[in-house]
Amino acid sequence: MSAEATNPATPGPMTGSAARWRARIDLRRLGRAALLGPTARDRLPDAIGHVAEAHRAHYPDADLEPLRRAYVLAESSHRGQMRKSGEPYITHPLAVTLILAELGAETTTLTASLLHDTVEDTDVTLDQVGEEFGADVRYLVDGVTKLEKVDYGAAAEPETFRKMLVATGSDVRVMSIKLADRLHNMRTLGVMRPEKQARIAKVTRDVLIPLAERLGVQALKTELEDLVFAIIHPEEYEHTRELIVDNASRADDPLAETAEEMRVVLRDADIPAEVLIRPRHFVSVHRVARKRGELRGADFGRLLVLVNEDADCYGVLGELHTCMTPVVSEFKDFIAVPKFNLYQSLHTAVARGDGQVVEVLIRTPQMHKVAEAGVVALGNPYAPAPEDPVDGERVDPTRPGWLSRLLDWQEAAPDPDTFWSTLREDLAQDREITVYRPDGGTLGLPDGATCVDAAYAQYGEDAHACIGARVNGRLATLSTALRDGDTVQLLMGQDPASEPSREWLEHAHTPAARIAIQRWITTHPSQDAAEEAEGPAVALRPTAEAPTTSPATDHVTVDQPGATVRLAGCCTPVPPDDVTGFAVRGGVVTVHRVECAGVARMKTVGRPEVGVRWGDTAECRVTLVAESFVRPHLLADLTEAMALEGAEIVSATVEPPTQQRVRHTYTLQLPDAAHLPALMRAMRNVPGVYDVSRGQTTGL
Ligand code: MN
Repeated sequence: MSAEATNPATPGPMTGSAARWRARIDLRRLGRAALLGPTARDRLPDAIGHVAEAHRAHYPDADLEPLRRAYVLAESSHRGQMRKSGEPYITHPLAVTLILAELGAETTTLTASLLHDTVEDTDVTLDQVGEEFGADVRYLVDGVTKLEKVDYGAAAEPETFRKMLVATGSDVRVMSIKLADRLHNMRTLGVMRPEKQARIAKVTRDVLIPLAERLGVQALKTELEDLVFAIIHPEEYEHTRELIVDNASRADDPLAETAEEMRVVLRDADIPAEVLIRPRHFVSVHRVARKRGELRGADFGRLLVLVNEDADCYGVLGELHTCMTPVVSEFKDFIAVPKFNLYQSLHTAVARGDGQVVEVLIRTPQMHKVAEAGVVALGNPYAPAPEDPVDGERVDPTRPGWLSRLLDWQEAAPDPDTFWSTLREDLAQDREITVYRPDGGTLGLPDGATCVDAAYAQYGEDAHACIGARVNGRLATLSTALRDGDTVQLLMGQDPASEPSREWLEHAHTPAARIAIQRWITTHPSQDAAEEAEGPAVALRPTAEAPTTSPATDHVTVDQPGATVRLAGCCTPVPPDDVTGFAVRGGVVTVHRVECAGVARMKTVGRPEVGVRWGDTAECRVTLVAESFVRPHLLADLTEAMALEGAEIVSATVEPPTQQRVRHTYTLQLPDAAHLPALMRAMRNVPGVYDVSRGQTTGL
């Protein structure tokens, strides 16, 4: 239940060789039993004994049959696979499931957790999982299954996270499994190469830890923080470890003394309560050390007071503030005003006679469970009326506001790089403020948000028409930073053609606002910007038309002839290439060559295609790559050949030669696309050149 309970030192179910051996014998028997039919139903494999025990501690009546079946399928399908550590692969899903069981996850999550790598790594299919374990387990396994590197290249990791977050929006249990999966992978990261450890640790720091924090899964978050700390800052980690070891060897323990004093106070006041010492995790000790300099004994932990009733929390507070010396500035009431991640507790601090300050948390066991396990403790978000999901249109009723906002802006960030960097930025804004609207509604915004952010949070793209704001009744500029509890009235203009100011970008802190403004600017380029733009609106105008075969046409508003068309920078299509289009917001269609990797990717994520064809061709822009042997005057000869064909060089890159070979990349403007074959021929005829091809930049 507590962070201590999921400590890496806790032996997993399969670590002892005796246990492994016993499990193997048992599995052989199970394999046979599975063939012989349902007689094995009441026999639970030893390997999931720990899981079953932890699960029953939270759910005494839980049906363990799905866990047994999931284990049998996972074990048989992963059989023969090894982890890098040399252990059988099944130890991983088992450990992940144990983490979740200890946190109080319900049976469906645990079933999916046992199966979480089967579809990715074995012959088991999603359909099979669905047939044998039901739609919910299928959905959860699908949600955590990675996208293939083969299909997505460098975009695989960001796109996998995007997919997982979208799935989490419909069922937050997806992220519970992902977090536990990452925790076990981080615990066992030592077998990887140092560079790989560092890379995984950084993604954990930037993405998974903020998600654990926002979802309130404190127990996973603190352990992940310590594991990341040890990898990214090994020296400071070692120093912190020494501080903790030194402190533990001291004779006096101010926390224990104060805890005992508190027990007496509460016993005298007749309030039944448990007073526990909660050691800080390494990162927390490190933070306190940086804040306070020299650490004293009381800084290494906090006291946790557990009481039965909500009202008793305030009773305890009253007694402590009366009978001890409170540090009033440290008092915070997260019961009356829960944190955005559902966390509830009273926080206070008391000063000891020797001047040391002891921090105190006061909560009920229920609050403690939520504080430690967050969403994992919420159970099935669709209970108590589990209805069959209707065609992907299910929305998790427990979906938090920040996740809805994240899912909104990610739709507007089609390319993986923008998504990935914006996601990290969004998650870095951990503190949230609440501002009030005059109608009594509220907006949750990140700390540092301005009126611009409030406008886009409230009105979406209609915020382009915002002309001003009143903050707490007074007129304020849109750049005004908002504080927790402010009342904000946004003044909207009536002109439908109103434009956002480019300066707003400087005051936009939320991804939703920044992406909306950025998109408006991209689709309304100023004269200068249009000339500099990489994928310029071209003189050549393929006409957008609604293809009769596409079922998606009625969703396309871009479909009127004469829509603004942009040629994609990734594959630089030119006539007579086969091309296809995708609508971008703001009435723009981007045109790609049909074989462009970006097209496949967008089709996989369900972006509808827009039919496009080349109109009357005029000039075009194209990227060509020339591979040559190194020789003097090569550059001069190549550029001369291009000039003779009427091509104008827009940009050129020459890579440093390797093994007497050199690669030149040119972006060229041609008066007529029909000249392209002749141009390429002319370039190939330059002595030393052995290949000329159309450039396709990667990474989009
Ligand atoms: Mn895994």
